[in-house]
Order: sequence, then C-alpha cells, then structure tokens
Amino acid sequence: MSVKNGAPYDEGNIFARILRGEIPARPVYEDEHAFAFHDINPQAPHHVLVIPKGPYVSMADFTANAPDALVVGFWRAVGKVARELGLEEDGYRILANAGTNAHQEVPHLHVHIFAGRPLGPMLMQG
Ligand code: AMP
Repeated sequence: MSVKNGAPYDEGNIFARILRGEIPARPVYEDEHAFAFHDINPQAPHHVLVIPKGPYVSMADFTANAPDALVVGFWRAVGKVARELGLEEDGYRILANAGTNAHQEVPHLHVHIFAGRPLGPMLMQG
C-alpha cells in the first residue's frame, strides 16, 4: 500500500525498526547521519537504499524540518555510497518516491541507488 500524502511519521515503519536494530538489514555504509543497506527486492545488480537517521516521511518533510547538519550529512552519504561502490564510471540513478502517485511504500524517507546495467527510460510511459 502506498504512503498517504502528508501522513505523520509512523515510528513502527520498517526502516525505523531497521535503524533501531529490531530487524536485520545488509549494511553498505553508516555514519552519524545516514544508513545505507541493500534493498530486499533488488531491481538492478546494485540496488541500495540510503535513509537519514531521523523521523522524516518524505523529501518535503525532511528538507523542511531536519537540522541543516542532517540534510547535508545525508546527501554527502548518498554521494559517498555511490563513489565507494564504484558506480561513478558506468553511472547510476538515484530516486526517491513520495506519496500515492509515486507508490511510496515505506513511510521513512529513502533514496534508491540503482546501477550495474543500462537503466532504461527515466519514467514508465503512459
Ligand atoms: P518505495 O516504493 O520507494 O517506498 O520503496 C520501498 C523499498 O523498500 C522497496 O524497494 C522494497 O523492496 C524495500 N524494502 C522493504 N522492506 C525492506 C527491508 N526489510 N529491507 C530492505 N529493503 C526493504
């Protein structure tokens, strides 16, 4: 089910539980601002999720309400993960779904990093 637009943060969401160590994840990178881990249902040879360490549902929520240091630290972590995975040369795509039309499933902001094969057109047509 998609995340309802404007929904409040749900402390029980699966990524909040991963951050609290209640359920396992396959880590890729971690620092004080962000955690990156492998997507459980990969759509490309590299499919990594990067999440901020804070209670934000969406990019709009995060950029409006998170402290500057967290916003900067999160985006630095996204770039660092792409570099450290060696994705710069062949290229990669980052994507963040928000709300109903984008089919956001988990109500904790996450950026997908896809790479490892030609990724096709940016959006499904029609
Ligand atoms: P989105 O549709 O942008 O909200 O994407 C949610 C993503 O989270 C999907 O690609 C799922 O495969 C992934 N996902 C859901 N549960 C887990 C989990 N426990 N560990 C890793 N990835 C997950």
